[in-house]
Order: sequence, then structure tokens, then C-alpha cells
Amino acid sequence: MCLQTIVDDIAAEMALVTERGRVADYIPDLACVSPSKFGIAIALADGSCFTAGDADEAFSIQSITKVFSLTMALGLVGDGLWQRVGREPSGTAFNSIVQLETESGIPRNPFINAGAIVLADILLANYEPAEVLGEFVRFVRELAGDDTIVIDHQVAKGEAATGFRNMALANYMRSFGNIHHEVDKVLGVYFHHCALAMSCRQLALASRYLACGGRNPDTGYAMVPARRAKRILSLMLSCGHYDGSGEFAFRVGLPGKSGVGGGILAAVPGIASIAVWSPGLNERGNSQIGSFALERLVEKTGWSVFEER
Ligand code: GLU
Repeated sequence: MCLQTIVDDIAAEMALVTERGRVADYIPDLACVSPSKFGIAIALADGSCFTAGDADEAFSIQSITKVFSLTMALGLVGDGLWQRVGREPSGTAFNSIVQLETESGIPRNPFINAGAIVLADILLANYEPAEVLGEFVRFVRELAGDDTIVIDHQVAKGEAATGFRNMALANYMRSFGNIHHEVDKVLGVYFHHCALAMSCRQLALASRYLACGGRNPDTGYAMVPARRAKRILSLMLSCGHYDGSGEFAFRVGLPGKSGVGGGILAAVPGIASIAVWSPGLNERGNSQIGSFALERLVEKTGWSVFEER
């Protein structure tokens, strides 16, 4: 199986699809990205990368960042984290507030907005927002082996100016005692780390630790213990696509995490990490073409985790 041919074929096929979904417009800077964009990158443990389309163009990774913040927060507080964030699919939209009332301010999982806002609060323990963000960018750069990765401050600013729902979520959770720091600081961290700009190539390289038992394959250093890497992958499979998580698991069969910037990160345990990007979103807020592309990829490679090996 020639991976380069596979990604080239998928990119050619995706270019022909006319139904491309709707670009998120509630964050001003995301609204102007062309829906015709499409990128795909597959990274293997040895660092070899197979890319096609706009795989080297940076985009706003948005919710995909929650995989990295979960990894960091678990490193900081360990399994104590699960007293403040659940592990169940929400079945509701990424920014929903409804379940917080019946569940005493405990978000359903770390991959919806409320959950990731708690992660940002955890990362702030004893640090200022600028230190947390500095550490965050360093962490992702180290994972990707790429020092050029940066936060797009314009995107963060736009989100801070319009993120009324996130402000409500944070304040509401604070009323239950599940946010410990000033809401402005917590949201400052949250908005900025969502605004990390990365290309498919950088994302696929950065997430190899998930496909490699928690180890950064370049250094051999354990970013997370193997058991924890498996658990992060489980959560990606069950909760990584908001209220479309079941559909993604059904169609693709890989642990994945999407973001409203149109990116999807997916991992094939023991084999590869994959990033796709196409800004148009389906009705559940997940990349329309990105999901198609991953469906095609697993058909061509047999990489679904449910495939008989
Ligand atoms: N920063 C975005 C928000 O809070 C993330 C949304 C997402 O990608 O799910 O609305």
C-alpha cells in the first residue's frame, strides 16, 4: 500500500465534492477561510509524513487543542482530574450549558467547551495565563519537533470579543465551585490555546505520541504513560466529535478530535497519526470533507480500530 498514492487520490476525490458544509462564522476570523481548502497528512512513528492538498497551510485548530490540554492537565493533577470532569459523551452541542445544571457544574467530558474550560482552570494552578500559554506552545512545539508553531492572537481576540456562551459556561461552573481562578484568566488561556495555528503536517507529527503508546517517538520520552494514552484515545473515540461522536465512530472507526476550524486529528494505535482539514462543517460542527476523507482513508487502508488484523 503506497500511502502517498492514497493521500493523493483522496485529495483529488475531495476536490470534486461540491457539498462542502458551512464555515464557522461565530469567530470572526474563521468566517473568511475558503471552503475549497483541503489538506491531509499521515505521520508514522519514524517521522515520515505523507501529505496532499493544503497540508502545509496553518489553520485554527480550535477544539483539537483539547487533546493537548487534556494531556498536560493529566500530567499536572493525574487522575484527580476526573473529579472535576466526566468521561461520558454529551450528546449535546459543543457549547451546551444544559447538562451542567443537573450535573452540579461537572462537564460531561474534557472535549466539549465546558470540559476544556475546566482543563484551562487546572493548568492555571500556581501560574499566570502567560506562563501557561508559553508552556503550552512549548509542549506542542516539542511534540511536533517544530518551533514555528504559534498562537494566532487575532483569532483569540475575536473569540474573546464574541465568546459570550463560554463566559456563561465558566461563570456557571464557578458558581458550583468547579472553576477556581478568575474567569477572565481562565478564558484568556482557553481562547488563546484554541487559537493555536497549525498545519495538517504539524498536527499529525505532534500527535504521534498517541499512536505510539504515549511516547514521543523522536526522543523516546514518555509524554504520558501508555495506560493514559489509551484512555485519551478512548475519550477521543467516544467524545471527540461533540454530538456527532457516534456517527464518526460508526463511519470512520478511529479515535478522533475535531475543531470548528475544520480540522480533525485521528490516531491509528501502533500505526499512524493523521490530520485532515477542510473548513466547511456539517450540521454537528465537524468538518464535512474531513470526515469523508477519513472514511475513505480507512476504507483504503483497513485502519479502523475495529478491523480484524
Ligand atoms: N474556541 C471554540 C469555542 O469555544 C472551540 C470550539 C470547537 O472547536 O469546538 O467556541
